[in-house]
Amino acid sequence: MTLSPVIQRDVPLQSLNTLATPAVAEYLVELEKAADLPLLLEQARQSDWQVRVLGEGSNVVLADRIPGLLIRQACRGKSLVEEDSGSVSLAVAAGENWHEFVDWCLQQGYYGLENLALIPGTVGAAPIQNIGAYGVAVGRFIASVQCRDLHTGEQSILLSRDCEFGYRDSVFKHRLRDRLIIEVVRFRLPTIPAPECDYPVLKRWLQEHASQNPSPRQLFEAVTAIRSSRLPDPAETPNAGSFFKNPIVDADRLQSLLADYPDLPHYADGLDYKLAAAWLIEQCGFKQRLDGPVRVHPQHALVIINPQRRSANDIERFAGDIVEAVVQRFGLRLEQEPRSYG
Ligand code: FAD
Ligand code: NAP
Repeated sequence: MTLSPVIQRDVPLQSLNTLATPAVAEYLVELEKAADLPLLLEQARQSDWQVRVLGEGSNVVLADRIPGLLIRQACRGKSLVEEDSGSVSLAVAAGENWHEFVDWCLQQGYYGLENLALIPGTVGAAPIQNIGAYGVAVGRFIASVQCRDLHTGEQSILLSRDCEFGYRDSVFKHRLRDRLIIEVVRFRLPTIPAPECDYPVLKRWLQEHASQNPSPRQLFEAVTAIRSSRLPDPAETPNAGSFFKNPIVDADRLQSLLADYPDLPHYADGLDYKLAAAWLIEQCGFKQRLDGPVRVHPQHALVIINPQRRSANDIERFAGDIVEAVVQRFGLRLEQEPRSYG
């Protein structure tokens, strides 16, 4: 006999989101077996519950009460689907931990994900914002994403091109926002190492540590070391990583900004330019405002920290102050990266 998963009521979520907001889910279920999902969605439909999905809660701002059913995607498992002379195809359940998956890939001799080491969260959330770091984004290694419609329960497979991957962006943040639960991500990974070491901070670290031609494992360790030294650990200092996306502007806009702010850091992004949001925030003086309960991290203005474990209201008020200050000074509206719920 198989037992259906337990749907709990009024569940505290403070330990289930890295910003540690004191949110409560009206209903919460821990999904450990994919086979339970159709029945759960049917039950939600009959009860008229709104359904939301949570991974490890590292890119969300959860309000005091999350109405309806929150499904915590915790299905594990990975399998080798196909292998040829230069690559493998893997099917990975959405509830696998991302960093453990990257580490496991290296142990197997599957490469490409080293620059994405130590990003918190689940495999299933990786396609949502096309996670990226140190010059690599995951989209290029995703072959397809298997999902289920939260409302109809219908299953579908989106090929990589249907995912519309962009800079920290995908179709899951737009047309398909909050409509699907990702069940399995299929990756195609090279079995021949080709470390990507051009990202400036990474390159510098590798030069300083005498690793000019690093192995994939050395690259993984370099990324892990840099991240550990620069970013606050959410277990000690609650945060959701970068709170805002870096704004993208066209060449004309860049020129007019540079006329006023010649030091403005900018990077080519196709025909457009990416600006460093952290710099814009620093210029508005937020690194000096370190006395509030919610504030920017002293070493990283893009990371909002919540050491007193305040509510989403307090975080959003502070984030709103940042957005307003940047609009006033630069005429640019920063876009929030983590999703707000409730
Ligand atoms: P959650 O926060 O639980 O959910 C995020 C969103 O995805 C929500 O909208 C949720 O509904 C949806 N979702 C989650 N799982 C599923 C699923 N299975 N099906 C459908 N929808 C789902 N991001 C980067 O891109 N690069 C970085 O370098 C990076 N560094 C970070 C560093 C720190 C310290 C922190 C705290 C965060 C960082 N992030 C970074 C953000 C975050 O780690 C990623 O966005 C991660 O993919 C979120 O995974 P999660 O499982 O915690 O998702
Ligand atoms: P950083 O090296 O201090 O750089 C600051 C910003 O400038 C980054 O956002 C980065 O854009 C951009 N940048 C720097 N050099 C670049 C180059 N040569 N080409 C293009 N863009 C360049 O960044 P950091 O804040 O310490 O983070 C390191 C990496 O981890 C970054 O890739 C960042 O995105 C990622 N990260 C993401 C989160 C998150 O929550 N999303 C949190 C922490 C770290 P990119 O963002 O495009 O790289």
